Amino acid sequence: MSGTATVKNPRAPIWWSNAIFFVSTHIFGFWGALYWRPLNAVPTSTLVLGFLVWQSAVLGITIGYHRLYSHRAFKAKFAVRVVLAAFGSAGFQGSIKWWSLRHRLHHRFTDDPVHDPYAATRGLFYSHMGWIFYKPTYERMELVDREDLDSDPVVRFQHKYYVPLAIFFGFILPTLLGALWGDPSGAFVWGGLLARIAVWHCIFLINSLAHWDGLQPYSDEHTARGTFLLALLTGGEGSHNFHSFPHDWRSGPHRWNWDPSKWIILLLNRLGLVTGLRSVRENDLKEAMEYMHFKEKHGVAPVIEDTWEGEKWDIAQAYAYLKSKPGSCVVVIDDCFVDATAYLGEHPGGASILRKYSVRPHQDLIEATWAFEGGLNNHSRSARKRMGEYRIARFQR
Ligand SMILES: [Zn+2]
Ligand SMILES: [Zn+2]
Repeated sequence: MSGTATVKNPRAPIWWSNAIFFVSTHIFGFWGALYWRPLNAVPTSTLVLGFLVWQSAVLGITIGYHRLYSHRAFKAKFAVRVVLAAFGSAGFQGSIKWWSLRHRLHHRFTDDPVHDPYAATRGLFYSHMGWIFYKPTYERMELVDREDLDSDPVVRFQHKYYVPLAIFFGFILPTLLGALWGDPSGAFVWGGLLARIAVWHCIFLINSLAHWDGLQPYSDEHTARGTFLLALLTGGEGSHNFHSFPHDWRSGPHRWNWDPSKWIILLLNRLGLVTGLRSVRENDLKEAMEYMHFKEKHGVAPVIEDTWEGEKWDIAQAYAYLKSKPGSCVVVIDDCFVDATAYLGEHPGGASILRKYSVRPHQDLIEATWAFEGGLNNHSRSARKRMGEYRIARFQR
């Protein structure tokens, strides 16, 4: 059994409306399923409906909210984005924008008890659902990029009308569908209330259980772990140790990883409805697995020496380099000039943030060391290794 130490943190104000809605849905859901429309009193069609709306909402969250919007793992046509927004609304977990911004914070500061909204270090209960009872101010939210979310009309519309959309797709539509076979009340209980409870807890398990117990084949720098049971319950998101490669369209890179979200994305890609699937480089994946394998076998991390011998450049030489390569993006990290141009399209945090911290000839130098070393993101070992590959010279001040 793995686990994490619980860290105490000052409490934020209670989010009463969220808490009341969440608790009452549980009370009415269980009352409805036990006394009003119990399992043996509802037709099979109602139970099938409950299963389908539960799974479609899970997929709306995993494919839409998580992989498409939070991590930009692929690009989707308008119609696909609309369907995913509708399914995700039925998940009752906030709008795409609300969810994605918090999830981006989670990845940037995983396990940080102050900056990670559902830090596993604050305990299993808190990371599972405790956090939604509070309304904290995230001081680092300002630093999270949101331009891509704000520029998508589907995201803007869904954010503006989120509450009516969630009520319609989460409660009204299943009830109307149940009326087709004369069981609107059963459909309300099983396809409305219970399906919502199931979506909540399945997705919440990714923040709690998947940061608590399971395998770590790719990295042990954070608490994220992979479990098969969770993959079954969450449309494939259970291979959560893949955290280190958040921009990948898959949750597990291997054929045998249970990942229906991945299979649906692949099918949509074959149909031409989604494009630009982003994947981790095979070498990075292999290196991460070998690193973890070594650590498991020997009990210590392998010693990887940095033998890079770069030239020494002053700022004028960096300006000359930029002049010779117009449009390139050079940043200063840890006293090195790093040409990130080839990485712009792959950077999980987006290209604009790299541009923002890039060297601009004859302007005040903004170094990226603070941002890279945890100011904007706690970069993983893999990300550091990747950064090392793009160094072009040491900075001689
Ligand atoms: Zn996570
Ligand atoms: Zn993620």
